[in-house]
Amino acid sequence: SKLVSGLSKTRNNIVAGIDSIFSGFSSIDEEFYEELEEILIMADLGIHTTTKVIEDLRKKVKESKVKEPNECKQLLIDSLKEQMELQENAYEFENHKSVVLLIGVNGVGKTTSVGKLAGQLKEKGKKVMVAAADTFRAAAIEQLTEWANRAKVDIIAQQEGSDPAAVIFDAVTAAKARNTDILLCDTAGRLHNKKNLMEELRKINRVIDREFPEAFKEILVVLDGTTGQNAMVQAKQFSEVADITGIVLTKLDGTAKGGIAIAIQAELGIPVKYIGIGEQIDDLQKFNAYDFVNALFS
Ligand code: GDP
Repeated sequence: SKLVSGLSKTRNNIVAGIDSIFSGFSSIDEEFYEELEEILIMADLGIHTTTKVIEDLRKKVKESKVKEPNECKQLLIDSLKEQMELQENAYEFENHKSVVLLIGVNGVGKTTSVGKLAGQLKEKGKKVMVAAADTFRAAAIEQLTEWANRAKVDIIAQQEGSDPAAVIFDAVTAAKARNTDILLCDTAGRLHNKKNLMEELRKINRVIDREFPEAFKEILVVLDGTTGQNAMVQAKQFSEVADITGIVLTKLDGTAKGGIAIAIQAELGIPVKYIGIGEQIDDLQKFNAYDFVNALFS
């Protein structure tokens, strides 16, 4: 499947290592656990999640009285899935009049993700509008216009440098007037200027809450999967400035460290709602822990 091929780099990284220890060790001893730990950390599962997985695996091995390393592979898969099952990922916004904000630093894939989502939701029969509130980057407005034209959805934009909150005001007003189902908003993210960013997000949220209080609001942080643990740091920083409802983890096709998806969901307790596994419109997929782990081990 697309998911399996999109995750091939991570799969090769994790599975090759894991297969070699499952076949290379004759018993489940300390050295076995240590090597497994190293492989999981290398795949960017993070120390915290790796430690939890290993602890859980030790328990499962004991309970099931498994002796052979080969037999505990399924136990490991189960444990990885359980780490991500903290919450049922919900996509309630699709069933309401909603405003979806995509936030994140430059280059992580916000504009692209807005475009892909717009196309997919339109395909499902939703009336979609996009707002080009990343007014900081001229190319972002052009890029989003292209996506909107391709997907045949409405776009609200002003010129470069205009006030993002003003664009959002226009967009929310238009969305209400045109009876739009889902308004997707691209935003600019300058984390190095946390105070400005916070102020900008606060203004945007205030406009939405004031002008469209009945809208279902979704705030998604977009993170670049190839940046590994740095993505984790960004997720933490953004969760300090906004009430994040989910994560979009992009570019997993370009990294061997896709374990970050497991780490983020397990450590931050914020659901990974979408993953990006390529540049085409259907390369943004709803994230499902079971399918993800299965794709890694298929
Ligand atoms: P923004 O600054 O956050 O809006 O980032 P962009 O949407 O402009 O994306 C930056 C680059 O990442 C673009 O070249 C996109 O095509 C690329 N990109 C975004 N998502 C993915 C993905 O899932 N996989 C790959 N391979 N590239 C992606």
